[in-house]
Amino acid sequence: MEKKIAIITGGSSGIGFAIAKKFSEQNIHTIIVGRDSKKLEDAATQIGSNCETIACDVTNLKGIPELINGVISKHRHIDVLVNNAGINLKKSALEVTDQEFQQILLTNLTSVFAMTREVAKNMVARKSGSIINISSMAAHYGLPGVVPYSASKTAIEGMTRTLAVELSPSGIRVNCIAPGFIATNMSATALNGDPERKQKVLSRTPMGRLGDPQDVANAAYFLASDESTFMTGTVIPVDGGNSIGF
Ligand code: NAP
Repeated sequence: MEKKIAIITGGSSGIGFAIAKKFSEQNIHTIIVGRDSKKLEDAATQIGSNCETIACDVTNLKGIPELINGVISKHRHIDVLVNNAGINLKKSALEVTDQEFQQILLTNLTSVFAMTREVAKNMVARKSGSIINISSMAAHYGLPGVVPYSASKTAIEGMTRTLAVELSPSGIRVNCIAPGFIATNMSATALNGDPERKQKVLSRTPMGRLGDPQDVANAAYFLASDESTFMTGTVIPVDGGNSIGF
């Protein structure tokens, strides 16, 4: 059987790394994308076989067609795209500059669209593919202090539904995972200096802990696999009950 090929943006750390490791263990050839080539190489060494790296800043939109064409020339197909790369900014709304707002939208949203469009062109030709976007609980309730992040993640969920409808006739599924609070560098930056916020997070998470990146990786593998072939346009929370906690 032909090996599946997956691209994971932001696969060098945190949630993206856990997804890449899971895919690789499941014999999916995994291509991890990030800006820092040293971080990528270290991640690929840890992942072992079935992993290659591409150093690229996804905000360089003009470079995305070349990136995807390069993967297709080498591997002939792309079966799974995980749009995971993302950045956050914790700042009160009145202090966020237009430039900061645009930068977060460019990283977390516009690049996701550009990657998806280029990958989907190849998937359409093969009439098959799974695209997984990483959203956030910031798209589901009013989390103060993260206005551009919240805007970007909410938009990703709308985009997921529209793309799911447009691409379904071509055999492509598009789904979202909305992680709750997962133990990574990003959440450490947001929570470690803010014990009140951390306490609030834990108190409204019925499971009473932060998630492990592996928890998200398991859901991503399910969406990438043939176990989810009748699922598209969905948003799956992986949040220890945070979104329904009182
Ligand atoms: P992380 O450890 O900071 O990882 C972010 C990854 O994105 C890194 O590999 C980073 O690599 C890459 N990246 C950032 N900007 C990039 C760019 N312009 N081009 C290419 N790669 C870029 O964060 P994480 O917590 O795993 O977050 C992963 C995703 O999950 C994000 O979309 C985040 O919004 C989402 N999420 C996280 C949580 C959480 O609690 N942790 C909750 C909900 C949603 P380089 O720095 O080398 O580029």
